[in-house]
Amino acid sequence: MSGIIISGKELAQEKRIEMKQQVDTLKQKGITPGLAVILVGEDPASQTYVRAKQRACEQTGIHSEIDEVSPSITEAELLEKINVLNDAKHIHGILVQLPLPEHISEKKVIETIHPDKDVDGFHPINIGRMMTGQEGFLPCTPFGIVEMIKSKGIEIQGKHAVIVGRSNIVGKPVGQLLLNENATVTYCHSRTKNMQEYTKSADILVVAVGKPHFIDADDVKDGAIVIDVGIHRNEEGKLIGDVLFDNVKEVASYISPVPGGVGPMTITMLLHNTVVSANRRLK
Ligand code: NAP
Repeated sequence: MSGIIISGKELAQEKRIEMKQQVDTLKQKGITPGLAVILVGEDPASQTYVRAKQRACEQTGIHSEIDEVSPSITEAELLEKINVLNDAKHIHGILVQLPLPEHISEKKVIETIHPDKDVDGFHPINIGRMMTGQEGFLPCTPFGIVEMIKSKGIEIQGKHAVIVGRSNIVGKPVGQLLLNENATVTYCHSRTKNMQEYTKSADILVVAVGKPHFIDADDVKDGAIVIDVGIHRNEEGKLIGDVLFDNVKEVASYISPVPGGVGPMTITMLLHNTVVSANRRLK
C-alpha cells in the first residue's frame, strides 16, 4: 500500500483563491483586511517566514505591514508598538514573529496583543475559548492540520489520535482540536515510556517533535493517517520532516509531505483568521 498524499500546498492554494473572493467582497463594503507583523532582529528563518506571509497577503489582497525592528529594542518599546497596533482601525490582525530576544518576555508580548486581533491564536483568552468551544481565533498550525484531515473526507470522530509533542503552539492545541472533533486523544512527549505502543495504536498520528526522521514505518499502524509537522534542513539543504516519508507512506493510508504539507496551511490559516477578524469588525 502507498498512502494518499495530503497536499497542504494544493489545499492552501484552493483556500487562498476562495479567500481572495472574500477579500474582494469586503473591499466592496469599504474594508480591507490588514495584517501587521513585527519582526525583531535578523534571524534568517524568521525573515523567511515573514516574507512568505507577506507574499501570501499580496496574493489574496490582504493589506500587510511589516515592522522590522532592531534586536536591541526594549520590552517596553515593543509593547508600546503593539498597543499602537491594537488601536489602529485599519489593522485586523497582529503577529509578533517568534522567537524573541532573551530580554523580551514572550508571555508579555502575547498577552499585550488584543485577543480580537490575535490572529496567531496564542493569547490565553483565545486558548481558553478553543478549550471551551467558544468563538475565537484558533492557532494556525493546529487549525491547518484539522483542515487537511477534513479535506480528504476523513471522519475524525471516534478515532484514536496520538500526538507526539506537547508544545503550546502545536502539540497541545492540535490534540484539543481533535478532541473537539470527538477523537480520543493521547499525548506522547519526552518522558513517555514505550512510545511505540502508543504510536502504533494511532488511527491519526500527528508528529510535532522537532527531530528529523523521528518516526519510521515500524512506529506506525497499517492504514494510519500521518501528519508531519516537523521542518528541518538536511545536510544537502533539502527540507525534511519528523517522519521518514518514503518508508511511512508504504504503511499509511494518508500522509502529509514535507515540504508542501503543514507549512503552507499554517500561513493560509493566518490569512483566514485575518479575514475573519475583518468580517467581525464589519458586523
Ligand atoms: P518544541 O516546542 O521543541 O516541542 C517538541 C515536543 O516534542 C516537546 O513536547 C517534547 O517533549 C517532545 N519531544 C522531544 N523529544 C522527544 C522524544 N525523544 N520523544 C517524544 N517526544 C519528544 O517543538 P514545536 O514548536 O512543537 O515544533 C515541532 C516541529 O514542528 C519543529 O520541527 C518545528 O520547526 C515544526 N513546526 C512547523 C510548523 C509549520 O508550520 N509547519 C509550525 C510550528 C512548528 P517535552 O515537552 O517533554 O520536552
